[in-house]
Amino acid sequence: MRQVESTQATERLYFQDAYLQEFSARVVGRESRDDSPVVVLDRTAFYPESGGQPHDLGWLNDVRVIRVEEEAERILHFLEKELSGDEVRGRIDWPRRFDHMQQHTGQHILSQAFYELVHGETLSFHLGQEESTVEIGIPAIRDETLQRVEELANRIVFSDLEVKTYFLPGEELGSVPLRKPPKKSGLVRVVEVSGFDYSACGGTHCRRTGEVGLIKILKQEKIRGNLRFSFVCGFRALREFENRRCFLQATAALFSAEESEVAACAGKSLAELKNLKKRQKKLEEKLSFFEAREMLAQNPAGIISSLYTDKSPEEVKFLALNLVHQAEVLVILAAFRNDNFHLVLAAAESLKVDVREVIPVLQAQMQLKGGGSPTLIELVSPEKDKAGRAIELALRFFKTKTGQT
Ligand SMILES: [Zn+2]
Repeated sequence: MRQVESTQATERLYFQDAYLQEFSARVVGRESRDDSPVVVLDRTAFYPESGGQPHDLGWLNDVRVIRVEEEAERILHFLEKELSGDEVRGRIDWPRRFDHMQQHTGQHILSQAFYELVHGETLSFHLGQEESTVEIGIPAIRDETLQRVEELANRIVFSDLEVKTYFLPGEELGSVPLRKPPKKSGLVRVVEVSGFDYSACGGTHCRRTGEVGLIKILKQEKIRGNLRFSFVCGFRALREFENRRCFLQATAALFSAEESEVAACAGKSLAELKNLKKRQKKLEEKLSFFEAREMLAQNPAGIISSLYTDKSPEEVKFLALNLVHQAEVLVILAAFRNDNFHLVLAAAESLKVDVREVIPVLQAQMQLKGGGSPTLIELVSPEKDKAGRAIELALRFFKTKTGQT
């Protein structure tokens, strides 16, 4: 495809009519960028990524527009494939655009509500795929105040005020109480939420506040000493409500309770779980005592060794302690956790053995860390497959040391 550079400014149809979904235009430039064909039109209703609002998607004839950027006064349409012909019919993805208009207009209203009630300036705005955010220049806010901000914003929505857009030359800007001074000089586009908010903005907005629908703040977080609020408007607020309702209903069903009782049920269940864990620990301790007694009935003295796949390292340690407290034995036990094996060695005090002496012997054969007292050590190794070998080595070491064969 021939490349035609164009410096012609693109007429932005969305400035006059943000509701224009279809338009005809002429191709005045063709380029290729990032392996995508790009066209410049003499006029367009496609909104380019700018001012926190994402770009539009849509079609030029039957070719998909996948990205829209502005470069100086030109608007670049990135296409999925080459576009033939110079006369085009453009169509924007309207549900996506209307969603952006709801979030963006909602942001103007919310920003002014913060300004009016807590003198918080809007430092940045981002329209995300799921939620949007505004960073407000305040260090903290009380819950009741935040509720009042949200209420004021929604009162403006329910008042169904007109949202007007007009251009003013720089010298006439003093006649409107702009919330923030404009970034650009010269002719400035003013977006006015009738008598409530005046902003310099080049985005697309709803024509009445009623179209924004419910404005709901979802959460706040601290950032750079300011507060950043996540919010949703319009259909997003409806979907958010529906998602939360489903989640709450499913959780309530788990407890066979009413939705309003879920928090209390969860609290009760957690308390019960804590008690059960305590009881379980006591029972395990008791069980460990009897298990030790049974093992000692078969091996009343000497060295006891075993490798466990069904016990935790803590259980094994407890069993080792039970064994050495009940008889004059030396114990070598192993258990696994994740990709490690734990080796526990314990000796009855009367044996006068220092179990730590085996550590360098084992470390010569495998990676191993840990330690303890002369009568109890716990060692951990990432070489899981060497657990059996470790027991064997320790067994041989102590047999030699205590003169057993
Ligand atoms: Zn705007």
